[in-house]
Amino acid sequence: MRKPIKRVRVGELTLGDGRIYIQSMTNTDTKDVEATVSQIRELVAAGCEIVRVAAYDVDAARAIKYIKEKVSVPIVADVHYDPKVAIQAIKAGADKLRINPGNFPERALEEVVFAAKDRGIAIRVGANSGSLNKEFVGRYPERYMALAESALEHVSRLESFGFEDIVVSVKSSDVIETVRANRYVRERVDYPLHIGLTEAGYGVQAIIKSSVAIGALLLEGIGETIRVSLSSEPLEEVRVAKWLLGSLNLRNVPDLVACPTCARAEIDVVKIAEEIASVLDTTEKPVKIAVMGCVVNGIGEGADADIGIAGTKTGAVLMKKGRVISQIPREKIIETLLKEIESWEV
Ligand code: SF4
Repeated sequence: MRKPIKRVRVGELTLGDGRIYIQSMTNTDTKDVEATVSQIRELVAAGCEIVRVAAYDVDAARAIKYIKEKVSVPIVADVHYDPKVAIQAIKAGADKLRINPGNFPERALEEVVFAAKDRGIAIRVGANSGSLNKEFVGRYPERYMALAESALEHVSRLESFGFEDIVVSVKSSDVIETVRANRYVRERVDYPLHIGLTEAGYGVQAIIKSSVAIGALLLEGIGETIRVSLSSEPLEEVRVAKWLLGSLNLRNVPDLVACPTCARAEIDVVKIAEEIASVLDTTEKPVKIAVMGCVVNGIGEGADADIGIAGTKTGAVLMKKGRVISQIPREKIIETLLKEIESWEV
């Protein structure tokens, strides 16, 4: 059950409106407007809904103006240490700032917060395990509490200026710590939460860790925007985020079921599944496909798919909604499945 939370506008989007928004971050040089715009367009085409760019100096912050002229997705400026950069990012039209208030002197923070308020843009604050203040670690019995309290202190600082368009994040590279810290924050404030791990790592392990943490939180109704942080191309983050949300029925995505194969398999299930998965990756059509190795178990186990095949001595049978429709020769299996997916009407 989702706790009612404050709605916070980010560009044309509203965090807290019930949709879980996918975020990623560009890895191009922000000053290279052409390259950054090109990457943002690629991310948006893959399903990214909020894009963060590193505003690492005043010129990078200024570039946001030219980036925004070419894209309509909300842009978040990631600013560290220099309040002048934050002010420049606000002037350039950033839709949200991501700052660490602990890095700004009080007067400078006040100036940044008032500039954001004036333009009506949100600020994300939070804490990461990597940069957690040691003072907090000593003050609380558990590290996740220190992480959460550190983020909540930043929230209080913004609130002390009468600012409430706040998004909070608490991230660790540890799954359990991240889940507990987010629960802790959600119990205490009603601002939208941006959830994910930090420095999740590489490859399958990172995807699993992120999916477990983000999935567990979303199932508890915690989290309004997600980033699957991977040491990989940002596009991969968006692809994983989309499948993750799809697996929780929070996005319309296709579903591919395939049997694990065994000695009964009459067709190359893995090869066929790989080909079909690469096509499904680019569609939001919520069609369920089954690729099964044989008719012995395949027909029954693939029965709840919209379209399915089960291997035979000469190729496969084509099934629709559990009914066998026709026989497909071996060399036509992939082609037939692709045609069926394309013409499937939801
Ligand atoms: S569907 Fe057939 S080939 Fe696939 S695992 Fe089941 S019995 Fe084996």
